[in-house]
Amino acid sequence: MTPKTNRRNFLKTSLMVGAGLFLPKSIALAKSNSSDDKRIIVIGAGLAGLSCAYELKQAGYNVLLLEARSRPGGRVRTYRDPFADGLYAEMGAEYVDSSDEHVRKYAKEFELPILPAKQYDGIYVRGQHLSMADMKSGKVPLPYKGIEQGKLFGQEAAYLQEWIKMVQELGESSKEVQALDKMSVAEILRKGGAPQDIIDLYIYTNATESTSIPSKMSALNMVLANSRTSAFSENTEEGRILGGNDQLPKTFAKKLGNKIHYNRAVQKIEYTKDQVTIQFIENEKRQSISGSKCVLAMPLSVLRRIKIDPLFSESKMYCIRKQSYGHVMKIAMQYSRRFWDEPGSIGQRVFTDTPLRRVYHFSIDQPGPRGILLSFTSGDDAKKLGRMSEERRMGTAQKSCAEIWKEAPQYWEGGVTKYWNEDPWTRASYSIAGVGQKDFRDILSRPEGMFHFAGEHTSIHRASMNGAIESGLRTSEEIIKS
Ligand SMILES: Cc1cc2nc3c(=O)[nH]c(=O)nc-3n(C[C@H](O)[C@H](O)[C@H](O)COP(=O)(O)OP(=O)(O)OC[C@H]3O[C@@H](n4cnc5c(N)ncnc54)[C@H](O)[C@@H]3O)c2cc1C
Repeated sequence: MTPKTNRRNFLKTSLMVGAGLFLPKSIALAKSNSSDDKRIIVIGAGLAGLSCAYELKQAGYNVLLLEARSRPGGRVRTYRDPFADGLYAEMGAEYVDSSDEHVRKYAKEFELPILPAKQYDGIYVRGQHLSMADMKSGKVPLPYKGIEQGKLFGQEAAYLQEWIKMVQELGESSKEVQALDKMSVAEILRKGGAPQDIIDLYIYTNATESTSIPSKMSALNMVLANSRTSAFSENTEEGRILGGNDQLPKTFAKKLGNKIHYNRAVQKIEYTKDQVTIQFIENEKRQSISGSKCVLAMPLSVLRRIKIDPLFSESKMYCIRKQSYGHVMKIAMQYSRRFWDEPGSIGQRVFTDTPLRRVYHFSIDQPGPRGILLSFTSGDDAKKLGRMSEERRMGTAQKSCAEIWKEAPQYWEGGVTKYWNEDPWTRASYSIAGVGQKDFRDILSRPEGMFHFAGEHTSIHRASMNGAIESGLRTSEEIIKS
């Protein structure tokens, strides 16, 4: 599908949603479905809920999916409307890694090609412009103290040797290793003798990916990542669904048809020994629907605000309330000329310590001359930007881009931000391995009675589309097996 056709479809769809024409016929959803006590109710049409409902439907189950928004996909969100020339931008999930087997499997099944992304080629930190190649060859130094020159990511490893050795000698599940979960990344690095510069650099490397800050991230997670040599690096092999990632949830949704009910925000979950009753808002009125099982596939940052009666087990409720999340913002900026691809440019995918953090050319599959620069910013910078008006956010974005590419201001056309922490149906970025939370995922993913728990926060591949789908498949299997 070409981006042009997509844009047309998108406009058509959004107009119809606006006019209420896309609202499912089931205005009286509660009444029309109230006779079926074998129904499985899935809450949340992100990739977790969609993949779960899709597999259950395929297996012949009577499934019903309730979604608060008027669209499927949750944190997979492609914007097309604000841009000219059929340009689009991923304001939520973007990259599909080479190992993301579940995303790749469904993308293949739904005939959605994945276009490889370009790698980092520039660095702009502490006011210095560096080329990634020059930094890697040792030609130019990275301006941080206590680092090993020639690489950007993984600088923390040198200060973790004592604990990496401990993992090798005692094993990952030993008491001593597991106890590292009580310490934060910042604490263990200080204990290991790391200068402040190492912690500062970590903010812009791994903490940015996690959307958190070193004082809130578990040391255990960092030590294990480094001892498995699987820590994130600047040499990534990633792709994006050509024409927009939203095609993946939209295809699931199309296949689910009238099983999905949009604009149904769940407010209360009640249950007895053999029946689950879900209260939701439908056309501004409170309605309810019952079923025999329920899959909860919404972020915990939202679930913790919903009434649950009676409460789930103490440990489950504790994790629901306490699970750590980060802050994240995406900023899409349209420029009339692709100056980042021209001679003299620092690069087209730039690692920075500006408030924008990662800045990169998004529209690599489109001809130009216009193009979109996208920023992925997180942690304290996202939080700070989040407190600003849209106008001030854009002003800060323009200023940072002008520092990275001095010719940027003359080609500026406009932009848009998406701060996920202010979205009422997300209220967060994605789950992070917080201090003292090593057992959370196991507890959160465990079924309780008629309830099954999906969502990226329940997956070993947390914080990803792949993890969301993995959890959807796990919960559908739990139900099928039971
Ligand atoms: C900015 C950003 C960048 C990211 N980058 C990447 C990336 O590059 N690669 C990658 O793989 N992943 C990335 N992710 C992570 C990825 O988006 C998520 O892990 C995944 O999409 C989560 O899916 P989910 O189904 O668990 O949750 P969601 O997508 O959040 O779905 C939950 C659904 O529940 C609905 N809901 C919430 N409350 C209610 C309610 N009360 N009633 C009914 N419905 C409700 C929501 O509207 C939503 O549709 C990124 C995320 C963000 C925010």
